[in-house]
Amino acid sequence: MSVATIEVSLTALLNNVAYLRKICPTSQIMAIVKANAYSHGKEKVAILLDNYVDYFGVARLEEGIDLRKKGIQSPIVLLEGFFLHDDPSLLQQYGLETVIHCSQQIDALARLPKTMSISCWFKIDTGMHRLGFRIDQAVDYFKQLACCEAVKKPINIISHFCSADNLTANETMTQISLFDRFIDQIDDSSLLGKQTIAASGGILAWSESHRDVIRPGIALYGVSPFDYNEDGKATGMQLGLRPVMTFKSEIITIREHNKNEAVGYGQIWRSEQDTCLGVVAMGYGDGYPRDILPGTPVWINGRLVPIVGRVSMDMILIDLGLNSDDQAGDEVIFWGNEALPVEKIAAYSGMSAYELLTRITERAKLRYVD
Ligand SMILES: *Cc1c(COP(=O)(O)O)cnc(C)c1O
Repeated sequence: MSVATIEVSLTALLNNVAYLRKICPTSQIMAIVKANAYSHGKEKVAILLDNYVDYFGVARLEEGIDLRKKGIQSPIVLLEGFFLHDDPSLLQQYGLETVIHCSQQIDALARLPKTMSISCWFKIDTGMHRLGFRIDQAVDYFKQLACCEAVKKPINIISHFCSADNLTANETMTQISLFDRFIDQIDDSSLLGKQTIAASGGILAWSESHRDVIRPGIALYGVSPFDYNEDGKATGMQLGLRPVMTFKSEIITIREHNKNEAVGYGQIWRSEQDTCLGVVAMGYGDGYPRDILPGTPVWINGRLVPIVGRVSMDMILIDLGLNSDDQAGDEVIFWGNEALPVEKIAAYSGMSAYELLTRITERAKLRYVD
């Protein structure tokens, strides 16, 4: 291992699926594998989980087609639906299910041959105001969709929370009641398929929202959707999950460094005493944030040491102290072990854990363990 590495624990992933089943015993699981499974490698993750979850969720048509070409058998749902420039008959060809969130999509399905049978997830906007039918128009559009012969019945119903990570917001209960009111307004209940609202925040904090299908993304990867340091729900580990990713690299070389010498671009740090610096093969070219707070810890040989100077594209300097036994080639962990959860690094970076995971670049190599 001589480069930035994304180590993925398949045991941790299965542990998290089992944990989610335990806390949502009557729900099916739609594993969210968009954005390359939050940088965990969507194909490998999906192949492993194919027999353990009920659906996969992706953001884009291309992601769904990729998974089918890799032999994934479970139903795959396009969370943003097909785009208007896409050919909707590809849904049939690749056996993909689609969210329907706007009337132009209904028009496109209405033009398909009636021999087709496309599974749909009708999206209602209960407060996110991003995708979905406005609540005052949703019943009419639902009836229109149900009239399309190429649309398979029953039709599933989906919505999405805007503030489920806020444990005290009233908005989530308002969204749930709007969802329920919509369901009540559909007279022909034989048209109503599965209901789904909860992503990780809903799953972990709002049991009223579990319904027929839960849609875990970040929780699947063992990471908390909540802000660090809030109400004791700081990390995935504290919630009962196990972090799936360890983001690591190794020391290229160790340098002696004198008191008062500055380090790196812009000379933003000077040592207060003689010390040894480790030069690590990791940088913003691998996705580590350039603007992280000085002093952010990394893990090496059983202890935390600080990052010093500015993060460069390919290298990071760490202060090992004068009498360290560390050597070139030693492993350096940037996040993912018990002492260094990604949620903590998120707090140092001013970014969310979601962004830290998904911004890792292709240069970092994926490695699957246990
Ligand atoms: C991304 C996404 C999810 C998963 O969200 P997490 O917070 O990572 O669990 C679920 N549903 C939809 C519609 C999404 O876009």
